[in-house]
Amino acid sequence: MTVHIGVIGTGNIGTYHIDTITDHVSGAEVAAVFDVATDRAAEVAGRVGATAHPSAEEVVGDPAVDAVLVASPGELHAEQVLSCIAAGKPVLCEKPLAPTTGECLKVIEAEIASGRQLVQLGFMRRYDPAYLDLKAVLDRGDVGEALMLHCVHRNPSVYDYFTSDMSLTDSVVHEVDTSRWLLDDEIVAVTVVAGKPSPRAVIKDPQLVLFETASGVLVDVESFVNAQYGYDVRCELVGSEGVAAMDTPARGTVTRQGTRGLHVPADWRERFDAAYRAELQDWVSALGSGEVRGANAWDGYAATAVAGAGLRARAEGARAEVELVDKPSFYRRR
Ligand code: NAP
Repeated sequence: MTVHIGVIGTGNIGTYHIDTITDHVSGAEVAAVFDVATDRAAEVAGRVGATAHPSAEEVVGDPAVDAVLVASPGELHAEQVLSCIAAGKPVLCEKPLAPTTGECLKVIEAEIASGRQLVQLGFMRRYDPAYLDLKAVLDRGDVGEALMLHCVHRNPSVYDYFTSDMSLTDSVVHEVDTSRWLLDDEIVAVTVVAGKPSPRAVIKDPQLVLFETASGVLVDVESFVNAQYGYDVRCELVGSEGVAAMDTPARGTVTRQGTRGLHVPADWRERFDAAYRAELQDWVSALGSGEVRGANAWDGYAATAVAGAGLRARAEGARAEVELVDKPSFYRRR
């Protein structure tokens, strides 16, 4: 059976997902798209044989669409996800679920009321082979109990519209999700320090972020979005019996003229291409089972709550506690 997917938003990641589904995912095809940039939507639709609809509502309401992928700007996600839930259609929503926890909770309430888990969040690092190896090491107990996690998240550069807040809400939010997932622990407090800015930066960059988890694990994240040299995401887990590291996976080492060089990915697409493919394949394969195997709406809510605490922490120059409602039993993994 082929799953027919409707895509809302055909910008950077929307188009990338459309191409990934078309070229690398079995059992699925893109049937419909919408973007306010109608030329871009028509071009992509024509390329993959999909229908370009005049509105997001028509993508969701199209009887030929079995499931929806939301890749529009973040402030539109909650409304578009709510319309998918109302139509009873599974939805893979790019992060964030919503910029505010209030909107995230509306999605959670609607999903619980529908009686089915329909919402998956686009936290694709959960599907990255290198992160999965690290999680397996930790879950097997190879390094004992997790005590600390040191993370590095560097981008070569960012668009002009990127703000100091986006370092937390768009970039570090990936470390929020990977920390919660790796450690199976909620983040309860955040501290953020912006130090000497890079001369290349017009925003607060780099920034250091510290998470404290419910069990007391400390997670530090270096966020540096003007690092110039490449896209570099790494972490090191310090356990009670040893240390486990996740480095940039090697893609060929060049040794010449007395030096040995490891290629650094140019951007997030190159570094996480395998993760995006696996995420989309797993989402498609799980459709119909009533199960969300990736990050769910609760994870989206928690990520927004932690990012919000980070913004408060930086603004107030003080440690900020993360405010979460009690986790509904609906989201406890079986
Ligand atoms: P983008 O390139 O700006 O794409 C968003 C697209 O949505 C644009 O074409 C935009 O059109 C369009 N749009 C605006 N209003 C719309 C509406 N009402 N309905 C449908 N489409 C609308 O942004 P992006 O980089 O692809 O990011 C999109 C989302 O994906 C963001 O939430 C971002 O955080 C997330 N993302 C996630 C990852 C990841 O690693 N998981 C990576 C990148 C992005 P205009 O340009 O005309 O406004």
